[in-house]
Parts: sequence; C-alpha cells; structure tokens
Amino acid sequence: MHISADWLNQQNTRTVMTLLTGAGYEAYFVGGCVRNALLNEPASDIDISTNAHPDAVVKIATAAGIKSIPTGIDHGTVTIVIGGDAYEITTFRKDIATDGRRAIVAYADNIIDDARRRDFTMNAIYADQSGKVTDPLNGLPDLLARHVRFIDGPDQRIAEDYLRILRFFRFTAWYGDINNGIDAEGLAACARGLDGLQNLSRERVGGEVSKLLSAPNPAPAVAAMAQSGVLAQTIKGAQHQFLAPLIHLEQQFDVAPNWIARLVCLTRDAQDLRLSRKDENQRINLIKLLDNNPPPHAAAYRYGATLAYSAALILAASLESVPPKKLRENIALANEVVFPIKSTDLSDQLQGKSLGNALRKLERRWIQSRFTMTKQELLNEL
Ligand code: ATP
Ligand code: MG
Repeated sequence: MHISADWLNQQNTRTVMTLLTGAGYEAYFVGGCVRNALLNEPASDIDISTNAHPDAVVKIATAAGIKSIPTGIDHGTVTIVIGGDAYEITTFRKDIATDGRRAIVAYADNIIDDARRRDFTMNAIYADQSGKVTDPLNGLPDLLARHVRFIDGPDQRIAEDYLRILRFFRFTAWYGDINNGIDAEGLAACARGLDGLQNLSRERVGGEVSKLLSAPNPAPAVAAMAQSGVLAQTIKGAQHQFLAPLIHLEQQFDVAPNWIARLVCLTRDAQDLRLSRKDENQRINLIKLLDNNPPPHAAAYRYGATLAYSAALILAASLESVPPKKLRENIALANEVVFPIKSTDLSDQLQGKSLGNALRKLERRWIQSRFTMTKQELLNEL
C-alpha cells in the first residue's frame, strides 16, 4: 500500500529524504502526516524517523548547506528547514525509563522499537520516500476503524508520560468514531492514572487542550473526560453540559471552530492554562461580551465577527434559548463600516479629555443607529 499527498511530492520533502537515504541511512515519514494521508486529510507537520543520530543529521544538512535547528536534541529531534518548510527529524528511539512527565529515551537501531515507544497504533504507521507504507504494529485496521488504541498496556504507557491521557482524548476527538464509542480499556486506564496529570507542565497541558478543543466536534471526548474525572484535573472548574449545544449551533451557523469559545463555554476561569497573549486577549474580550451582552452588530464592531458569533452562540447554548434573530445579518452590518467623525472634526470646539469623551459618545450614538447616522447628523447631536 502507498500513501499519496501533496507534501510527499514536494521538492523540499524529496530533498530531505534524499539527504538521509543518500548518506546510507533509513528514513521514514511517521505520525500525523502518514495517518492523515491515509485518511485523505492534510498534514499539520512532517515528522521523519531515521536511524541517523542527531549529530549525523546536523552534519549531513550542514554539508549540503541546509539549515538545521537542534529543537529537541536531548530526545533526538533536529528540525531541518528548506525553503520555508520545516521537517522534524527524530532518531529511532526506545523508552528506557520514565518520570511520568517525559519519557527518558535511548536511541534504537530499528523501526520496531521506535514504533513501540509511540502512543497509539494509528500514530505508529510509517511510509518511505516513495510513500510505501510500513506498519510494524498493525495500526492500519485501527486507523480505518477510527479506533484510538494505546500501543501495549495503557496503564504502563500512561505512567511513562501522563500527557498521553490528554493525547488519548485529543486523538479520539479528531479521529475517533463517536458511534463506536471511546476505547474502553484506554478510558479506564486514563481514569486510573489521572492523578499523574498534576505533574505535567501547564504549557504541555495547555497545548493539548487547545488541540483537543480545536477538533470539529470535541463534545463527546470532553464528555468522556468529565465522566472519567480527567476534565476536572485538566481544566479547573470546567462544566461540560453546554459544549454539545454550542457545537450544534456552530454547525448550524457554519461558524469555524474557535477553541477559545469552547474553552469559555467550559469555564470562565482558565488562569492556569498559560494561554498565549493573543488567546488570552480573545478569552478576556469574549468574557466581556458575555457579561455586557451588547447587540450583535455592536459586538462585531468592537471585537470582530468571530467573537460576536462566539458570544451569541455561547449565550444561547447556556441559556438553552435560540440565538438573536437575524444574527448573521447583524454581525455582517459591522463589516467594513468606518466611524465618520475624526478628532479634527471637533478640535475647533473641544480639546483634551472633553474631546475624547465627545468622540466616544458620538461613536456610541453611531453604533446605536446601526451605523446609519451621517457625519452631519452626528455633529448636530453635540
Ligand atoms: P499532529 O497532527 O497534531 O501533528 P501527530 O500524531 O503528528 O499529530 P505529534 O505531537 O506531532 O502528533 O507527534 C508525532 C508522533 O510522535 C505521534 O504521532 C506519535 O507517534 C509520537 N508521539 C508524540 N508525542 C508522544 C507522546 N507523548 N508519547 C508517545 N508518542 C508520542
Ligand atoms: Mg505531527
């Protein structure tokens, strides 16, 4: 069996693979890129697995005049950048010891050891340069059945790295088949292991939560997290009952998944997820909108269409009501309107603080008029 994908045929991809194989090493694509190609979905990044050690990878790249970055050199990963495309090259590894926060690794010389240290069977499928699939642990049937299954005993795998609990729910949300339910053995092991989540860095947890909540429909996986006790350990104070109604409304209004909206739907308190500045700003603005509940055109003008939709849909979901009438039209009103008054229009009469106050007042008035008042009408209000 062969995979086909755009990234597989790209010149930069060929160059990286030839760099390694040309020097006599084995090199395989692995993880998400192979998994997603088999599902006909795009890849988020390209992971390559090789028997070349990191110092050899750096040396070969440098000799070819190609940039390499030792992104994760202590666990065997070097990132190679060609023409703006990044490739994560990781040396075959096996897990030798663990502290539950990160597996402690040693290099392996074969693909079977490398496969067995991975998390789920669907994530341990390899493909060579030509796209030919190698499936040492028989992950393909699980992938096609959309069954997220731990490699070997789940209790042991979770104790090696507790982040695998969150990865289990993340991959279930993205690639699981809800109709078949969640893997029962994995779920039970996650429930048994959940105390270990405390020891993970908040950055790693935050990263997983954002990927989980970015899935088209994370509600069934989040419900399973709640039932197993994992949700409470992951997002403090999270209540999941309004998430499924929110997703339903998002689909109805054809709104793209916004993980911050889903997060706010679960809890108003996400202090310890260590969000990026951009995400945290979004989160705070969304909470402001929920508290103040301005009409949708005003929300869209102040904070953009995405947050205006999020606020309206979260409110409807949590109040078990319907979103405001003509939501789409009202949000669209704010599109590309420009407040017609500039400070120079008022600076003859007003200065400093009173100028600012007047501008803000007129802007409010103009928003209230649904952006219909003209410059002259507004000036007459003064
Ligand atoms: P994505 O589409 O999000 O990139 P991915 O499956 O490629 O999904 P990555 O986090 O990029 O996920 O990891 C690449 C591969 O490395 C995984 O498919 C898996 O085989 C392995 N892996 C990553 N993190 C872990 C972990 N904590 N424990 C075991 N294996 C892991
Ligand atoms: Mg990946």
